[in-house]
Amino acid sequence: MYINKGRLYIISAPSGTGKTTLCGEVIKRIPNLKESVSYTTRPPRSGERNDINYTFVDVETFKSMLSADEFIEWAEVHQNYYGTSIKRIKEIQESGSDVLLDIDTHGARQIRAKHIDAIYIFILAPSLETLRTRLDKRKTEDEISINRRLGKARDEIKECLFYDYIVINGDLRQAADDLTAIILSNRLRADCLDADWFEAKFGSV
Ligand code: ADP
Ligand code: 5GP
Repeated sequence: MYINKGRLYIISAPSGTGKTTLCGEVIKRIPNLKESVSYTTRPPRSGERNDINYTFVDVETFKSMLSADEFIEWAEVHQNYYGTSIKRIKEIQESGSDVLLDIDTHGARQIRAKHIDAIYIFILAPSLETLRTRLDKRKTEDEISINRRLGKARDEIKECLFYDYIVINGDLRQAADDLTAIILSNRLRADCLDADWFEAKFGSV
């Protein structure tokens, strides 16, 4: 299996919920937690930087990576391709960090189907009205694209029950506190204990 080091946190939410903002916030707060930069064929939004927000590639490059099995999961979202590189996940894990993946519900399903150990977190806006307001205020999509994203949101939201945790992103600070609590408490799970450390301190069980 690809995943042998570092926990994998899968974060999904309809576009505009605030997951990019929230993930940025928890990464600042929690040590040894890194986001894997996805590949996408979507054009960069103003202010987005290559290899920081996404690695922006053309369709041909994306498809050749796909044929070479370079993605742990991929999906076509809002008419663009997005994929998570296996190599990037491994690099983060080998550096001793946990990995945050901001991926859509199709991508999350693929990872679940591969029986990869992961923690699934779904972010909800307080309401569909708030979601629209956030998409309007972000001003990165035209009206057609906003309506497409809201249409998809209704289907995506139904999937939240397949996730381990649900965070409501109403007040940003509260939501960041909740997401931080989920990640930190998972680090205290007995099955996260380093077996070598335990044996050195307390002998073998
Ligand atoms: P996503 O990554 O889910 O598409 P973004 O992080 O880009 O969403 O957030 C969408 C918009 O909503 C941005 O303009 C962001 O500043 C704003 N936003 C995010 N979280 C909150 C919040 N808790 N309250 C108000 N506005 C928020
Ligand atoms: P955006 O274009 O607004 O940044 O992202 C649109 C959607 O694509 C979001 O739901 C986001 O979570 C998802 N997404 C971003 N990267 C990936 C990825 O690598 N794989 C999958 N499956 N979805 C992704």
